[in-house]
Parts: sequence; C-alpha cells; structure tokens
Amino acid sequence: MAQTSLPPAKIPNLPNLGDTEREDLSPLMERKLGEEIMRDIRRDHDFLDDGPILEYLNNFGNALVAARPGARGEASFDYYFFAVRDPQLNAFALPGGFIAVHSALLLAAQTESELASVLSHEIGHVVQRHIARSLGKQRQDSLIPLAAMILAALAAKGGAGGDAAMGVFMGGQGLAIQRQLNFSRDAEREADRIGFQIMGEAGYDTSGMVAFFQRLQTATRNYSDLVPAYLQSHPLTSERIADIQARVREQPYKQRLDSLDFYLVRSRARVLQDESTQGLADAKAFFENQATQQTGRQQIAAGQYGLAMVALKKGDAALAQEWLDKARATIDKPPPKGTFSAAKPAEPDSIFVSTSIEIKLAQPDNKPMIAQALKEAEAAHTQFPLSRGIAHQYGEALIAAGELEKAGVYLREQVQLYREDPDSYDLLAQAYAKQSKLALQHMALAESYVLQGGVLSALDQLTLARKSPDATFYDQAQIDARERELQQRRREELGDKKKDKDLAEKQGQQGSGFSITTSHESQTPADPFARPSPWSLSGERTKEK
Ligand SMILES: [Zn+2]
Repeated sequence: MAQTSLPPAKIPNLPNLGDTEREDLSPLMERKLGEEIMRDIRRDHDFLDDGPILEYLNNFGNALVAARPGARGEASFDYYFFAVRDPQLNAFALPGGFIAVHSALLLAAQTESELASVLSHEIGHVVQRHIARSLGKQRQDSLIPLAAMILAALAAKGGAGGDAAMGVFMGGQGLAIQRQLNFSRDAEREADRIGFQIMGEAGYDTSGMVAFFQRLQTATRNYSDLVPAYLQSHPLTSERIADIQARVREQPYKQRLDSLDFYLVRSRARVLQDESTQGLADAKAFFENQATQQTGRQQIAAGQYGLAMVALKKGDAALAQEWLDKARATIDKPPPKGTFSAAKPAEPDSIFVSTSIEIKLAQPDNKPMIAQALKEAEAAHTQFPLSRGIAHQYGEALIAAGELEKAGVYLREQVQLYREDPDSYDLLAQAYAKQSKLALQHMALAESYVLQGGVLSALDQLTLARKSPDATFYDQAQIDARERELQQRRREELGDKKKDKDLAEKQGQQGSGFSITTSHESQTPADPFARPSPWSLSGERTKEK
C-alpha cells in the first residue's frame, strides 16, 4: 500500500541562520534538520511505509503529546511517529519531533501501556530539547552535513553492517554526534520523569514502564546475541528503575483495555518486517499459535488477521478474505456470559475495512472484485473521512475500475485539500496516464517529486510536460510559472550547499570529518534524491519511481 499517513506540515525554505543569540539549535532549524533526515528515511527500504501502522502510531503518539501542554514547543510543531524494520529493540527521537520505533520493539510491547512508556520517554527528550541543546548553535549553517552525520550515527548504532557506515562517516565530528545521540544520564532521568507524567496524564498504566524495561532485560537473557539497543542508547541503571518504581507506587493502579488496533497493527508489523519465504513461514506459525492457543478475543482475532496478511503476501487473495472474515467474526461475536470484555466496538474497525479493500484491489483482473472494492472504498471514505489510507484506496479503486474522469475530479480535490500529500499526486498521475493526458501526467508527477524533496526530478518532469503534444496554451503558462518557482528554490538550495561546502573546506583544513560533504556536493548538487542514505544497512535503496 502506498504511504498514507501525512507528514506534518513542512516548514517553507527559511533563512539558514537562526537566532544567533541562542545557545541551542533554534526550533525552526531543528525542525528543518529533522525534515532533511526524514527525506532520506522515507525513501529507505526499511521505512515501514504502511498506512494502518503509520495511522495507528500517529493517533497513539499524538494522544500522548496532547497530554503534555506545551509539548509542541514554541514553534508549535506536529510530532510524527513512524516505524522502521529492525530486529533490535529500540526507539529514538530525531530533531524536530520525529519519533521512530523499531519493528522488533513494537512486537515486544505486550500492552499499549508498554508502548506508551517508550514513546512518552522519547517525547520527553523532544520536549526538553535534548538533541537541540546538545547539537548547539555552532552548526546552524550546516544542516545538510549534520543530517548526513546523524543518519550515519543511526546506521552505525543499528549494529550488523554498521561498521561500513562508521568507516565512511566516523570522523571526529561523526563520533561526537553519535555520543550526543546517546544522551547523558541526567537527560535520561529527565525523559523518564516527563514520560512518566505523560503516561499518567494520558491514562496509561504507569507500571507499564517498569514492566517493559524488565521485558527488555529478559530479552537480553534469552537471546544472548540480541542485546536490546534500547538499553544501550538508554542505559538502564538500577537507580532509574528505582526512580520509576517509586513513582508508580505513588499512583493509583489504572486498568486499561488495549485497543483492537494495537493487536492488528502488530500483526501487520510482524508480516511486513520480513517478507522473505522464511519470514512469512515464521509469521504464519506464530499466528496459528496465537489464533488457537490464546483466549482473549482480540488476541485470537489478531492471529486470524495475521494469517490473512500472510495469505495476501503469498498472493492467495481468496484465503486472505476467508481469514479476514474469521477475524471480524471473532470480534463481532458477543462474549460468553459473565466474561469481562471490552465493549463491542460501536462501528466497524477501520483496519478491517481497509484490509478488505486491500485484498480486493490485489486482484486487478477480477472485475466483480474490483467493483466490490470500489463500493467498499466509497463507503469507507464516507465513514472514515480522516483516514488518508482509505482516501488513497478510494482513488486506487476508481482507477482500477476504469472510472478515470471521476478519479481525476476526486484526486484533484484531494491534492487541493491536502497539499503535502505526494501519494495523491502519484495516483492523479496514474489516472492521467490511463487517459493518455501526458502533459497533465508529468505535471502531477512533478508535484509529487517536489513534495519528496526532488526538485531536479520535478524540473525534468516539467520539461517532459512541456514537450507533450497535448500540452495546451494554458498548460504551458502553468509549466513556465512553476519552473521559475522551482529554479528559484534550487538556487536557494545551492546557496545553502555553497555554505556547507565552505564550511566543509574550512573544517577540512582543520582535519575534521567534514570532507564527506564535499564529495556529496561534487556528485549531486542540490538533489537530495541522489544522495546515498547511510541509514539503510542492506544497501538496497528505493530510487525514484
Ligand atoms: Zn532516552
């Protein structure tokens, strides 16, 4: 499925020098730095670009953020939560309110309170501006090399294969950044304290924090080759645990029922973290056990839902639909008398609804199936107007059903409403392509590239649009205007890079690790699409479409 959760509103190009009086990175610069890093991460193969997972994490994480007035800081940024495929138990905060959780940690958390404890702790680092404070003000005019170094440090922390990244990037500066990403003990305690308050305010069981730390320690004992990275980057002292336990004792115990979506999203993550034959076989065995050995309805349904996802990945849509229907029936069944159970959800679960559409859209040659997908997507779009994933599915279904005029009208409306949504532009380009509207197709693709940071690629698309035989006089005028804007933007970016280069040369003379920037510059001026990402350890990179 295409990326469905919207990135938070982007900050337009800002003057590169922040407030020179500050001792820390200004909030606007911090955000810009975070966005720069996110551009690389979003294109990485290990970014879990899955609508339901992103929507769940962002609803869940932003509810925690809302429990802390002032958490958005003086610049009032939105937080953005996402998951990466990674077998290490870890989570981390990037500059500017971007918070990542590793797939393994999402799977290791047994309750929403446990997940909340980790995310709240990371929110605590952002609220206290630990990263901005440690990066300091001296680098305010060098965001791009700084972004590259943070990515390198993250990759290096990732373990296996990290040495390669270390070799390239670990000059003195890079090493210093990595040390800064490992916060001080004081910073960890502060993040614990704030995370604890957030959990309590948001209504989670604060003992989940202790439970989860203990679970991480158990994981270390059981798998000696799997040292939880979370404990490395967030060293767990007995003092820290004692602090938390003391706070837990002061609070009344809160029983909290986990949402069905928590279980469903974890089933998706289990399938998506490893789609190899072996990975799917392991997931299948896990789900079979979960669906038959567990007693809770949500657990059983999550196992059945997981089996639906495995079947879908194996290309067996009919079996996928069968398991999905079983999962839904498990939830809809009234609980046995006298059993304490979560109230039956008042309306259908959005993940069940979107998965049903996903399964049908996976059968493009089956006309009745596509017609059914369209019917379901139309109803779902009305029922869940805030879901970007379902909004995209409706567009996909219109295109698959050949309702191209209607798809065009709908998607043009979507890109007007959600101006930061490259997926809607991609779908719009598809609709135009099927209608052989070449100029419009290239113009839509150009906008998608702009939103993903590829200004050069966008300019290429505009050139193709201009050359298209069907470009009208009106199109030409639009293309010219847009081209001028983008060239202006590119000149500004080159200006930024010039500063970076100057700095790199200056630093190079001092024998520091900044020289890597210079080589970036010579290969790929101003097009971040072409920049290699040190994030990915697999060496696999998703290039532009
Ligand atoms: Zn921490």
